[in-house]
Amino acid sequence: MTRSPYRSAIVTLTALIAVTSGVAVAAQRPNIVWIFSDDHACNAIGAYGGRLQAENLTPNIDSIARDGIIFDRAYVGNSICAPSRATLLTGKHSHLNGKFDNRGGFNHDQQQFQKILQKHDYQTAMIGKIHLNGAMQGFDYWEVLPGQGRYTNPQFVTAEGKTQYEGHSTDIVTDRALNWLDNGKDDSKPFMMMVHYKAPHRNWLPAPRIIEKFRKRTFPEPDSLFDDYAGRGVAAHAQDMSISKTMRMAGDLKVNPDSERAAWLEKNPLEGDDLIRWKYQAYMQDYLGCVAGVDENIGRILTWLKEHNLEQNTVVMYSSDQGFYLGEHGWFDKRFMYEESFRMPLVAKWPGVIKPGQRNDDLVQNIDFAETFLDIADAPIPDDMQGESLTPLLKGETPDDWRKSLYYHYYEYPAVHSVRRHEGVFDGRHKLIRFYGIDVPNGEEWELFDLKTDPAEMTSIYDQQKQSNRIKELKAELDRLKEHYNVPENGGLPLRGKVSERKPNANAKTLKFKFKQGVNVKAASAPYLPGRGIQLTVSLTWNGTDGVLMAQGGASNGYALWIKDGHIHWTVTRNDAATTVSTEDQVPVGQSIITVRQEKSGEVTIAIDGRQAAQGSVGGPFLAQPFDGLSIGQDAGSQVREFTTNKYADKIGPVETLLIE
Ligand code: CA
Repeated sequence: MTRSPYRSAIVTLTALIAVTSGVAVAAQRPNIVWIFSDDHACNAIGAYGGRLQAENLTPNIDSIARDGIIFDRAYVGNSICAPSRATLLTGKHSHLNGKFDNRGGFNHDQQQFQKILQKHDYQTAMIGKIHLNGAMQGFDYWEVLPGQGRYTNPQFVTAEGKTQYEGHSTDIVTDRALNWLDNGKDDSKPFMMMVHYKAPHRNWLPAPRIIEKFRKRTFPEPDSLFDDYAGRGVAAHAQDMSISKTMRMAGDLKVNPDSERAAWLEKNPLEGDDLIRWKYQAYMQDYLGCVAGVDENIGRILTWLKEHNLEQNTVVMYSSDQGFYLGEHGWFDKRFMYEESFRMPLVAKWPGVIKPGQRNDDLVQNIDFAETFLDIADAPIPDDMQGESLTPLLKGETPDDWRKSLYYHYYEYPAVHSVRRHEGVFDGRHKLIRFYGIDVPNGEEWELFDLKTDPAEMTSIYDQQKQSNRIKELKAELDRLKEHYNVPENGGLPLRGKVSERKPNANAKTLKFKFKQGVNVKAASAPYLPGRGIQLTVSLTWNGTDGVLMAQGGASNGYALWIKDGHIHWTVTRNDAATTVSTEDQVPVGQSIITVRQEKSGEVTIAIDGRQAAQGSVGGPFLAQPFDGLSIGQDAGSQVREFTTNKYADKIGPVETLLIE
C-alpha cells in the first residue's frame, strides 16, 4: 500500500514549526509510556466485552480505553513471544527482522525505532520482558528479564550485570519502572518508556495476595471447550496445546503433593469432561489472577503520572505480544492464525489529542507500532519499516487508503505444541490460511472462514464450490501482500524435518545414551521425571573448568548437574523453586566418576568415585516433565539456573559416559 500522504503533510508542517519556534516545540513533544504484557487475550479485558466482561478483571486497562481509544482489530504478524517483540522494535515482519521463532538469536545491530528516537533527543528505557538474548541497543536505560524470566524473585539483566529482586515479577517490573521515572530519567527531555510484564504467561503464577482470592471464583466456559475440530484440517487436529491432553496437573495447575487442589481432587476424583471443566477453572483462576496483577500495576503507573503532573503530556498505550486461547477450541497457548491468538489488545490515551471513548475497527498490525512511536515523537520514519503510523487513527482520521487486508506467517515447527507452519490473509471478514509442510498431498492444506457467519471459526468453507471466486480473490490478495512485504517462498526459512511428538519414556528403568560432546537428547527420548527417582552416572575427564555436566528443563521444572571450583552441585527446580545439594569435596582434575541418586522422596546422594560426597533433599519428587530435552555438557534451551553461559561443552573436558536409571 502507498504511504499516507496525510503523514507526509504532518511531518512537513511540524518541520516548519520547528524551524520557526525550535526549542519550544521540542519541549512539548509528548512522553510515551508503552505497557506490554505477555499472552493477554482480548477476551480477558473488560473493555473488549466477551464472556468474561462481567468479571471486572481490568479496571485500569478499561480506564485507558475509556479515556482514549480501543482498537477492535489489532493483530499480530506471527503469534509468538520473541518474534512479536522483534517486530515491535523493528517495524518489520519476521522474515525481514530475522526473528522467526523463539529459538536462535536476534540481530541487535539492525535498525530499531528506539535508536532513532534516541538520536532525536528522546530518552529511552526498556524494563521487563523482551525475550531477545543479548545486550539491548538504543535504550538509555534497560533492565530486562533474562529469557522468559521468573515469576518469583526474578533476576534482571542490565548493561552492568545481574540483580535479583524479592517479590512477584509483575510488581517488581513496575517497581523498577517507577524507580527509573523517579531516579533515572532526565527531566529536560521527553521520554519513551517500555514496561513489559512477563504475566500472564504460562505457568500462570499470580502474586500470593491474589492467588487465594481467585481460587474461590468460577468463570464462564467458552462454547467451544469441547471442540472436536471436525470442520478443520490436519493442523487443528495435530496440535499439542489442549487443556485435556497437554495442560499439566503439576507444572501448570500446581496440583502438587500437599496442595489444596490435590486434596480436593483426592476427595472428588474426576475424569473425562468433568476433569477438563475442572482444569479449565483452575487455569482461569491462575491466568486471570495474573491479569488482575498486571492491571493493578498499570494502575500504579497511571497514578504515578497523575501525581507527577505528567498525565496531560504523556501517551499511554497498552498491548500484549499476542492473544491466547482461554479454553476456546479446548486450547491454551497461541500460534494459530485463528482469532483468539491472532488478535492482540490495543488501547491508548493521549489527553487533548485522542478524544475519549473512541472505538476503531481499522485493520492494525504490530508492524505499525514502531512507526507510531516515531510519528508521535516527530522523528523520521525509515522507508524500510513495513507498517503505518497509527497517529491519524488515534485522532479519529483514518486515511482513505488505509490497508484493507493483513498478512500473517507462523514458523515455529517442529516445536513445542506442534502447531504447523502457516501463512494467511485476513480482510476483516474472510480469513484464508495455508498450512504447509504437512502430511497431505502437495504438503499443504487451505482453510477459509467467514467470520461474519462463523465468528468462532468452527468450519472451514474452503471446499464449498460457491467460494471458488472468493478463494481466487483472496489468493491473489495473499500474493499481492507477499510481494508488498517482500516475503520469499515459505518466508525464506527452510522447512525442517519432521520430529516425533513428545513421548517421554515413562517406563524405562535404565536409559543409556550414546552422545557426542554438546549433543542434546531430544525431549522425546529424555527421561520422564514426574514422581520418579533417577540416578545419573557421569564418567568425566575434568580439565578444571567450571561448567554444566548435564541439564534437563529450565527454571520452572528440571535439574542441572554442574561443577564450580571443583564442587559438584545438583540443582532441582520444582514449580519455579530451585534447591541445590552440593559436595564439600572437590573433584580432582583428571578422571573421575560422579554419581547422583535422587530418590522419589527427593532425598539426594552424590558420590565421587564411589565415596559419598553429599547428602540432602530437594524437597520432594520432580513435579512436571520439562519441555526441553536433556543437554549434555551444557544447559541448552531455557536454563535451570543462571549460569554465566550455557556453552560449556568445549571447555569442561569430555563427559564420557552417562547412565540414567
Ligand atoms: Ca507471548
